[in-house]
Amino acid sequence: TTALDGKVALVTGGSRGIGAAVALRLAEDGADVALTYQGSAELADEVVAKITAMGRSGWAVRADSADPEAVCGAVAAVADRFTRLDILVNNAGVGAVGPIEAVTCDQIDRVLAVNVRAPYLYAQAALRYLVGGGRIVNIGSCIAQRVAFPGGVLYATSKAALIGFTKGMARELGPHGVTVNLVHPGPTDTDMNPGDGDSADFQRGFTALGRYGTAAEVADAVSYLAGESARYVTGAELAVDGGFAA
Ligand code: NDP
Repeated sequence: TTALDGKVALVTGGSRGIGAAVALRLAEDGADVALTYQGSAELADEVVAKITAMGRSGWAVRADSADPEAVCGAVAAVADRFTRLDILVNNAGVGAVGPIEAVTCDQIDRVLAVNVRAPYLYAQAALRYLVGGGRIVNIGSCIAQRVAFPGGVLYATSKAALIGFTKGMARELGPHGVTVNLVHPGPTDTDMNPGDGDSADFQRGFTALGRYGTAAEVADAVSYLAGESARYVTGAELAVDGGFAA
């Protein structure tokens, strides 16, 4: 069963793409869902409206993942409003492409701040609420398991960091009854990586199934890991990548 009735989830970057699909899926499973966004206030409101239409509570919080104060403020505000927090999904992320010599120091800082430091800070701030049955699901990338082509050094660095983060957190939080897992999406049709983009056919060629995934297919895996069926799963990497890393 994946029934999440009575649980509260926080999904970072829930206004669009994979995060929006995850927010809706967890609401479908019965959870009340808070989501963060950076700029897409209207889209975030639309996701909240859909959650509300399912009979669940939804809430959107503007919080730039690159800003540590915003991150800690978001967790506190959500825990305050919903009086609990059971599931944290670290989804918000930014892409980065370019040859190693073209990447600037500012780009390195920005990508690591959003993709690595923010998940760390979110987990840190959420920990006290998650103790005794909570779940953390991090969103990595198939590129963390197999860097199949050049141009992804910075992005791969940031997503590979989540492997150590997930395993270390699983070790540390296991005794507190919290599981921590990592989902690696493959090429997934979103604004970040459109299925009709310039490099879409190229990326498709690296998958075993020969197609892009959908945000809903990634959300299915998050739903599993957030649910009761995954109670003995922690420190795991789950590829939802059409065989990209196979
Ligand atoms: P999108 O670019 O489509 O959506 C990104 C989401 O994250 C939006 O909700 C956006 O909010 C939010 N976000 C981005 N930056 C910040 C920030 N600084 N602070 C707060 N929120 C932020 O991305 P995807 O849905 O494709 O990707 C989601 C996750 O999946 C990312 O971690 C990505 O790296 C990973 N992934 C994606 C793959 C793909 O092929 N699509 C493949 C492998 C991994 P707003 O709308 O306000 O900008």
